[in-house]
Amino acid sequence: MKYDVANRRIWYKGEILNVNDAKINILAPTSQFGLNVFEGIPCYWNEEEKQLYAFRLEDHYDRLLRSAKLIQLDCPYSKVDFKKAFIDVIKANEYDENLSVRQTLFVDGFGSWGSDGPVDMFVAPIPRGRTSAEYNKKGLHVCVTSWRRISDETLSPRIKCGANYINSRVGQREALRNGYDTCLFLNEAGKVSEGPGSCFFIIKDGTVITPQLTDSVLESITRDTVIKIAQSKGYEVVERTIDRTELYTCDEAFLCGSAMEMTPVLSVDKYVIGDGETGMITKDLHMTYLDVVRGKVEEFKNWVTPIY
Ligand code: PMP
Repeated sequence: MKYDVANRRIWYKGEILNVNDAKINILAPTSQFGLNVFEGIPCYWNEEEKQLYAFRLEDHYDRLLRSAKLIQLDCPYSKVDFKKAFIDVIKANEYDENLSVRQTLFVDGFGSWGSDGPVDMFVAPIPRGRTSAEYNKKGLHVCVTSWRRISDETLSPRIKCGANYINSRVGQREALRNGYDTCLFLNEAGKVSEGPGSCFFIIKDGTVITPQLTDSVLESITRDTVIKIAQSKGYEVVERTIDRTELYTCDEAFLCGSAMEMTPVLSVDKYVIGDGETGMITKDLHMTYLDVVRGKVEEFKNWVTPIY
């Protein structure tokens, strides 16, 4: 039996519950201040093998623990606990479709924004294709938002915490208000950083270019995946600072992330990128990406974890 989204099972504080029965204290620091760290972990259904694969699970858990460390959450769970909860709750839902699994460590209880605990966890599988509109488009018309990306000196974009998404929100809301699909942020130095929920690449003269991890971006797992796929296919990949004007003159551009996968950027600030269609290199990388995440590419098979 399958569970519809409104009645799906979630793992919550050690139990598997109907999502409607998972209640949280309104005064908990996670409710009041967004005091939580989380991952969005993609799972892909491989139809030939009748298998569901989680993508780069270990890397997601390493980042979750780094995020928790950076904001000093006292996490009572190990990576073994993370993985067991993750697999148990997917099985409890009997999912055989692509998922994004939200795995969140949050500060519970009656503390304040300064509390280090009590920390607890939920794991909520979300069938794909039911999240933000910009994740389901074939190509994106993008603006450079007037808001700057948060920086390592104030609130590090390296930390995947709920509160950081308010910076994403203001950029995204501005983009939508002005008729764009999404935005790109510049960092405090005025250089290109990333999208509100995705990393960014351009292609110039056949070279695949993305901002450095020190240019105010999340340590994105998809960014790393794209770099490694591109290198394996023989493309030159360069991690370097990107100027704003390069956005308008590059040959191809795309945003990428676990939810976004790889989505071409067709224009920036109404400057058309290339010929306004999905570029050849973007298409080539995307096709391979879709095979890699389903465990179909031998070279990258160690990135997938079978659920069933
Ligand atoms: N940047 C930001 C701001 C994000 O929210 C995300 C989505 N987690 C990404 C980049 C892409 O990260 P990942 O590839 O690990 O999903």
